[in-house]
Amino acid sequence: MSEAAVRLALPDWAAGPLDPPPAGAGDRERMAFAVALARRNVEAGTGGPFGAAVWAGDELLAVGVNVVLAQGASIAHAEVMALAGAQQRVGRPRLAEGPAGAGRPRVALVTSAQPCVMCFGAVLWAGVDELVIGARGEDVESLAGFDEGPLPAAWPAELAARGIAVRRDVEREAARAVLAAYAARGGPRY
Ligand SMILES: [Zn+2]
Repeated sequence: MSEAAVRLALPDWAAGPLDPPPAGAGDRERMAFAVALARRNVEAGTGGPFGAAVWAGDELLAVGVNVVLAQGASIAHAEVMALAGAQQRVGRPRLAEGPAGAGRPRVALVTSAQPCVMCFGAVLWAGVDELVIGARGEDVESLAGFDEGPLPAAWPAELAARGIAVRRDVEREAARAVLAAYAARGGPRY
């Protein structure tokens, strides 16, 4: 007998207050916020060392952290949780409808670490204009021991070809530090 609904919940602390950056914040301030989410997830023992957030213009739509173990769900990565939360908030599956410009704010996913192969797919279909990344995939694998999966070698170009601007290495060292802290605690690799 299967359930008629799928439920995935963030940790209680994610309901706030969370202290997001002010309107007009740039990539670095937004990344500091995503990294702080990742660090809090580690320190609270609520999941893996990953945090993400989605903005439409200056509006924070949703946050996400890794809750794979707590939710018993392999898909519950930070990026998927943030994108699904944002989609739930706006009530449609593609966050950005039509070309960005007058009247339509740019939608950005800011994630503390490079998306794995699953989250790469999730980014493709979610309708975002920008993907901002902290730690690199090799950081995730070497520092925390997670498997990023078989990403296409040309993944940044694949995103660019679909109109998604990619910016990497934003606050990379701060993001790497959270990965290392998680490994030092002996956290599981889900
Ligand atoms: Zn992922």
